[in-house]
Amino acid sequence: MKSIEDSQHHFDICMQGNCSSCPSYPQDSGEGLFCVRGPSQRPLQKRGCSCPECPIWIENGLSGMYYCMKPAKK
Ligand code: SF4
Ligand code: SF4
Repeated sequence: MKSIEDSQHHFDICMQGNCSSCPSYPQDSGEGLFCVRGPSQRPLQKRGCSCPECPIWIENGLSGMYYCMKPAKK
């Protein structure tokens, strides 16, 4: 997988109608760009994921979703 730069530009794209308008997004957390920065510090519930509509997701050929959530413990 290509590495995606942790930049303000990419954060802004994430916050322009992608993570920011997703029903699962941790509101008022200031977090984002989870596909690069890793999951939220908050416990979250799956309420849908907007990543597949995000230009970063599409342009980088990502395939995952719910990057804001920590992987479930087995
Ligand atoms: S990573 Fe997916 S589920 Fe999480 S806030 Fe962003 S769009 Fe929503
Ligand atoms: S792929 Fe998901 S987490 Fe990554 S920038 Fe886009 S909306 Fe945000």
